[in-house]
Amino acid sequence: MSKKLLVVEDSRPIARVIKQIAEALDYQVTVAKSLAEVEAILQGNERDFFAATIDYALPDANDGEAIASVLSRGIPSVVMTGKMDEVTRQKILSQPVIDYIPKENSQAFLYLKRILHCQLTNQGNGILVVDDSLSARNHVVELLKRRNFNVYTAENGQLALDVLKQHSDIKMIITDLEMPVMDGIELTNEIRKLYSRDQLAIIGISGASNGVHSARFIKNGADDFLRKPFCPEEFYCRIMQNIESLNNIEQIQKAANTDYLTDLPNRRAFLRDAETSIAEYTSNKTPYALAMLDIDFFKGVNDTYGHDAGDHILKVFALYMRKHFGSGLIARMGGEEFTILCSGLDEDQLYNRLDDFRREISVAQIAFGQEQISFSVSLGVIFNSEEPLGKQMSLADGALYYAKENGRNQVSIVGALEES
Ligand code: GH3
Ligand code: MG
Ligand code: MG
Ligand code: MG
Repeated sequence: MSKKLLVVEDSRPIARVIKQIAEALDYQVTVAKSLAEVEAILQGNERDFFAATIDYALPDANDGEAIASVLSRGIPSVVMTGKMDEVTRQKILSQPVIDYIPKENSQAFLYLKRILHCQLTNQGNGILVVDDSLSARNHVVELLKRRNFNVYTAENGQLALDVLKQHSDIKMIITDLEMPVMDGIELTNEIRKLYSRDQLAIIGISGASNGVHSARFIKNGADDFLRKPFCPEEFYCRIMQNIESLNNIEQIQKAANTDYLTDLPNRRAFLRDAETSIAEYTSNKTPYALAMLDIDFFKGVNDTYGHDAGDHILKVFALYMRKHFGSGLIARMGGEEFTILCSGLDEDQLYNRLDDFRREISVAQIAFGQEQISFSVSLGVIFNSEEPLGKQMSLADGALYYAKENGRNQVSIVGALEES
């Protein structure tokens, strides 16, 4: 659901730019042109704003009075200002704002866009703050909460490792250097044995004035370092950069492992995950099946209804696969070829599930424009094999070839032919 953003801005062109930026991020925007309008809106029915951007100088409030008014309603706010002097900066930063942005040039709006985007995505990002000093911890926690992060805390490195194990949403650790039981350097070292830099960012903090500690943190696997006391701008900038680069890596990895058309895992993801699952099934003696699937006469679907219809069928087919085998491992291997790796009670039950899926496909009527398209799929299956994955796949492919030769729209089992 889209979130509500209050844009407090007296300049129409600027309000329009901010509105455009926010709507592109799926915010629902309300504009107020003066403090009086802000008050009227916040006293009305529309008060549940997710965030606000506030122009520092308004016609009826030219010294930032709107900031306190909006913040007092608990709405996280970004201040946009044309004033660059130190007094104004201090005045703004003494209030719990998300950030302030000098309206110097177009960079200001790009920066605002990043912030508004992060406010939405940070809700899924956990940050663990590790410091033995309660006041230092609280200060960092307060800064992070304004940015919507899920914040966790620990008093020393040892406790931090426990918290980290319990919360899979933690993407970043901000750690003090000197702490009892386990210090920040040792903690960094321990974390790097478990998590790579692609998975978790570590930012070291220390009050020491020389550069030795930053070097030690970095050499032990930290990604960044902050020296106390730090200003909020510097703090937020480091946090945002590190979180953004983690999110980028995550997106690239997801794209590399996902089929663009059906959103199913691709061949690469399947090969990566299948061996682990098969090893588990084998060691737990869990009955399992590996199936290779190929849609029948798919070229004919393209020839008859067009390539777009073919694409639509592939997407719908992927949905059926998710519905029937979403708890197992499924993938689009390429073209109209798919795989399923699933476990169950016994071979009969697994066979029935695969055959039920085949039957449901064979009777489905897929609407595309004015057309109703029907099609079928053939499957080659191997059960409980202890052969290497590559060998299993080629055996299942052999069975699939047999299913095709034998009339298509059927499940063929490896070994069944020799046995019968
Ligand atoms: P068979 O029953 O023997 O498998 O016949 P078939 O026509 O399905 O097999 P064939 O290998 O001859 O053709 C596969 C077709 O799948 C040809 C190709 O154009 C089509 N295809 C592969 N990838 C896509 C895709 O992403 N979108 C669409 N629309 N068609 C695709
Ligand atoms: Mg300390
Ligand atoms: Mg094929
Ligand atoms: Mg085919």
